[in-house]
Amino acid sequence: MNFCNVKSAAIRWSLFVALLLCGCVFLQLIIARKASAIISSVPSVSIPSYSPDVLLNDIEARAKYLALRVKDTNFFAYSVQPKDNLWKIAKKYGYSVHSIIGTNPQLKTYEVNLNQKILLPSSGGSLHPIQDNDTWKKIAERYDVDEKILQDVNFGISNLVPGEYVFIPGKTPAIDLMNKDMQAKYELRSLFRSPLNGRYSSVFGKRKHPVTGQSSFHGGVDIAVPSGSWVGAAADGVVIVASHNVGHYGTAVFIDHKNGYITHYGHLSSIHVRVGQKVKKGQLIAKSGATGRVTGSHLHFTIKKGDKSLDPMKFIW
Ligand SMILES: [Zn+2]
Repeated sequence: MNFCNVKSAAIRWSLFVALLLCGCVFLQLIIARKASAIISSVPSVSIPSYSPDVLLNDIEARAKYLALRVKDTNFFAYSVQPKDNLWKIAKKYGYSVHSIIGTNPQLKTYEVNLNQKILLPSSGGSLHPIQDNDTWKKIAERYDVDEKILQDVNFGISNLVPGEYVFIPGKTPAIDLMNKDMQAKYELRSLFRSPLNGRYSSVFGKRKHPVTGQSSFHGGVDIAVPSGSWVGAAADGVVIVASHNVGHYGTAVFIDHKNGYITHYGHLSSIHVRVGQKVKKGQLIAKSGATGRVTGSHLHFTIKKGDKSLDPMKFIW
């Protein structure tokens, strides 16, 4: 083998390696171009956003917005059925009416119409309308919930955008963030609580009197309960009447509350407060009975402002 042959073999090998390298680079370029073409053809995945106006007024859009952002609770648009009211609907789904008000910031009244759409959560809670300068900490403090849990529940919300919503599980809505109409109605109902739990056997308004049989005006509600059931004050106030002989009320207690409201509790069996005593909302004041003009044992409950009797159903939850 001479020197020249060795040299040409080396050149051939170098050329071969160089060609191989060039081929590799070329192949890589083709692969890279193909890959980038594939990547750019895949649509970018992003959670759709909605304007504050759409979120407030379009129930379906709000349900979709929440479905992608909140975990463990489902949201759906419900069509109001014949004879429905917010209380009945809430009961059917196992939470209080506060959850319906809390997830429906568009409502301006408690009355709903047939086929009206409302948003229902699968479990109780409220929507917090995100405010300017809100932070997770601020929202958590407002509703007294754990900040981490709140962020975990609202896993799909990375930025707190004013006009959008955060779901607060198990909490009632913030009164100061409601629309003005609902705020007034909600505050009114927050003044009083029901003196006891029971079936409403007679409501406010015109009725045939159960004893006289004549048409008369019923200035309160009757709550059917066994004699001896505890009766609580409907709100903070001062006892102004506590007597066993108050006309057809029989044994009765009257309480004067602030803002000109007075409540009456009639047909009692015993009284556990005295005139002039200050009482707290929910404090036990008497036991129910069947004194005065009655056909059976029940509590008569009246709310008055000045001389005017008001419908208690508009005041208590
Ligand atoms: Zn009555």
